[in-house]
Amino acid sequence: MTNYIYLLCMFRTKGTIKSLTTEEICNDDALNCPIILGNTYHLALQPGTELVRDMGGLHKFMHWNRGILTDSGGFQMVSLLKLAEITEEGVTFANPFEKDANSSERMLLRPEDSITHQNNIGSDIMMALDDVVSSVADNDERFEIATYRTLRWLDRCFAAHSKPQTQNLFAIVQGGLDTKIGGLREKCLAGFRARDHMIPGYAIGGLAGGESKEEFWKVVDQCCRALPDDKPRYLMGVGYPLDLVVCSALGVDMYDCVYPTRTARFGVALVPGEAPGTLRLKSNEFSNDERIIMEGCACAACKGGYSRARLHTLLKRNNPLAAELMTSHNIAYMMYLVRSMRKAVMEDRYKDYVCNFIHDQFRGSENGGQDVPEWVQNALLAAGISLEECKK
Ligand SMILES: [Zn+2]
Repeated sequence: MTNYIYLLCMFRTKGTIKSLTTEEICNDDALNCPIILGNTYHLALQPGTELVRDMGGLHKFMHWNRGILTDSGGFQMVSLLKLAEITEEGVTFANPFEKDANSSERMLLRPEDSITHQNNIGSDIMMALDDVVSSVADNDERFEIATYRTLRWLDRCFAAHSKPQTQNLFAIVQGGLDTKIGGLREKCLAGFRARDHMIPGYAIGGLAGGESKEEFWKVVDQCCRALPDDKPRYLMGVGYPLDLVVCSALGVDMYDCVYPTRTARFGVALVPGEAPGTLRLKSNEFSNDERIIMEGCACAACKGGYSRARLHTLLKRNNPLAAELMTSHNIAYMMYLVRSMRKAVMEDRYKDYVCNFIHDQFRGSENGGQDVPEWVQNALLAAGISLEECKK
């Protein structure tokens, strides 16, 4: 084990986490998030990063004195691909707020622009602009272009970075799902190794886009092995509790995902125990369930004594309080999960932690539960954890 899982769980935000105020997140002991993620692309469109800069940076603008990570804006290349055109110069977006699709209003995001925006925002961790290709794209040539372009763009990002003393610029490993020797992931990693003296931390990009779990963990494993042990490794866009437990065993330190907050708004509460580890509180089975979501949880919903039945009713009525309470619970749950993982790593008992987590989620078909998925078994074996040995 080389990871410390020292900061985890970030929430994509346009300057505010949906359903919760900064004060709630800051002051609530159950949540107590150490870092949040600001969306550069959205901040650049609204209110504009010059304004954020003139207001003293995003920390001050949001009244947030803890960590902020900003993405490059490149993530939107995949998520808004229909609106983007990628060339060596940068990415050109159609303004998504423009109703007329044929409007001439376009926004060019070059590596230099991405860095200027992030310097204006003043985030603690900035991400380099990378050329993202959907992991399930069937175009080897495009992956190759993107891998080498990501390296060239990284150099342009570092050249444009005006505050290297106060803002950490992370590089993002690309290379599709090509994990073979001499493959694209390896080429990208080799390019980063040559630049390691400039790079304070690394992200693993281009995953969580619909690839198989078997392909997914192999890329994570390859990157974790190749990246230096003394710098953080951030796995982008991954946030299912099981994925976090497995990928931390492989060596990942940081994660971000919209899953906990998005699923909360759909009425799904995250809980420990049997897979999938969720309660769909809109379901009628909870209409007279007097229990709180999770015993021992200090979130606003559980601490406030909201029963599952009460939440069920609020959700059915689309009461905004329901979204707030569910969001509070899911963030609290993720923070509880990552804190307990980190503690186990620091106390050198992460293997036992994984064994217990897997046992709780999958009790085995002989007990009427689900079998441990093969990809989980394989990934954990690669991390030196044999589930056969867990049973002993
Ligand atoms: Zn709770």
